[in-house]
Amino acid sequence: MGDARWRGLQRPSRYSALALLRHGVAGSAWPPAWRTHALEKSYDAVIVGGGIHGLATAYYLARNHGITNVAVLDKGYLGGGGSGRNTAILRSNYLTPEGVAFYDRSLELYRGLAADLNYNVMFSRRGHLTLAHSDTSLRTMRWRAEVNKVSGVDSEVIDPDDVSRLVPEMDTTDRARYPILGALYHPPGGIIRHDAVVWGYARAADSLGAHLHQDTEVTGIDVSGGRVRGVRTNCGDIAAPVVINATAGWATLVADMAGVRLPVQTFPLQAAVTEPVKPFLRTVVVSGTLHVYVSQTARGELVFGASVDPFASYSTRGSLEFTEGLAGHVLQLMPSLAKMRLLRQWAGLCDMTPDFAPIMGHTEVDGFLLDVGWGTYGFKAGPVAGETIAECVATGRTPQLISSFRLDRFAQGRLVGEKGAAAVGH
Ligand SMILES: Cc1cc2nc3c(=O)[nH]c(=O)nc-3n(C[C@H](O)[C@H](O)[C@H](O)COP(=O)(O)OP(=O)(O)OC[C@H]3O[C@@H](n4cnc5c(N)ncnc54)[C@H](O)[C@@H]3O)c2cc1C
Repeated sequence: MGDARWRGLQRPSRYSALALLRHGVAGSAWPPAWRTHALEKSYDAVIVGGGIHGLATAYYLARNHGITNVAVLDKGYLGGGGSGRNTAILRSNYLTPEGVAFYDRSLELYRGLAADLNYNVMFSRRGHLTLAHSDTSLRTMRWRAEVNKVSGVDSEVIDPDDVSRLVPEMDTTDRARYPILGALYHPPGGIIRHDAVVWGYARAADSLGAHLHQDTEVTGIDVSGGRVRGVRTNCGDIAAPVVINATAGWATLVADMAGVRLPVQTFPLQAAVTEPVKPFLRTVVVSGTLHVYVSQTARGELVFGASVDPFASYSTRGSLEFTEGLAGHVLQLMPSLAKMRLLRQWAGLCDMTPDFAPIMGHTEVDGFLLDVGWGTYGFKAGPVAGETIAECVATGRTPQLISSFRLDRFAQGRLVGEKGAAAVGH
């Protein structure tokens, strides 16, 4: 907090043990985590989408660049999109050097986030295991491990005995339907409390001056002379020289308003959680072959996920097919979970790109920026995406870290090729 970047900015009121004691003794209510404001007629930047990406961008615009006359608009509530529906897995063991460097910077920001935002985001570093059930996937794991090591990311291929030591409940025998031949083990991976991250960024962005507007839907984007002029919303028009599209599953609808076409399709992704049980699962476990992954929360619930639904749609309904498929695959991995009961299931929208890498930065419309294409893996990227998009806005340039993720890579045939590490692994 002695950081020079806070100078001249309003600091967030601190959460601390002393503050807790003071409020407890006085019986006084805590102030709301963020304020409500009237919609201004103009802002220096409008961010469409109040998920982790939009909120982190507002925070880093203020914190790193002193740009505070910013509005974050959400048609629903903050975190109501993928940011409040994901399974909160963090890792940086991607396949391409640009992916590894990018996600590793995010993990670095996540490690310091609780102190940075003065908000307990409950980051739990517990290791991440991606299982290999075939020679082909074992070869991909070795490839990933080498790319990771060259980039300084802790990742190695381990054998079934090591897997069994890490997760004794897993069926590592050769009697399993899909025997485990090895795994990619990534110790820095883990899970976090996704709502806390969203609320932490919202609170910090608000305290630095950003206006957060919920129930405010962008219905049109004004573009003239090749540059963005502002947005139209259900609550009134706003003039702005910069508009950032951070709407994930709705990204193409918002980009269309500015006349920008995206190679993105939206698919639902489902997840489910069990009743809580005594902690037994220390790591995050992923099986691409079985299309399933699992972790255990601090409360003891098992959180399961899978691949996206097989058809493009904007539906967020759960389906019985998903639950049945999931249960079958989970039991092939861990037969001892047969008696566990599912508590609930849900779905969110994922904006999938052809190469499983995001689309970030400037577009052919001056002032209209993209922070989209987050598919099933964008929560872990929130901090670094916010940081780099804020830099794009402040400097007008594209930081090296995201230069491979520009929209024009599709026209130029320079795809990133992250599918091997992003399809189910989150
Ligand atoms: C079930 C599930 C599990 C997942 N698991 C993981 C995981 O383990 N790890 C990981 O890294 N990622 C995971 N993801 C992906 C991750 O959740 C998303 O990539 C990420 O949350 C995207 O964040 P965002 O801020 O870009 O978008 P969102 O959080 O989706 O926010 C976009 C916001 O835009 C708003 N909006 C849309 N249109 C408009 C409009 N016209 N006007 C105003 N507002 C608008 C929406 O209301 C929404 O709140 C998962 C996703 C799902 C669904």
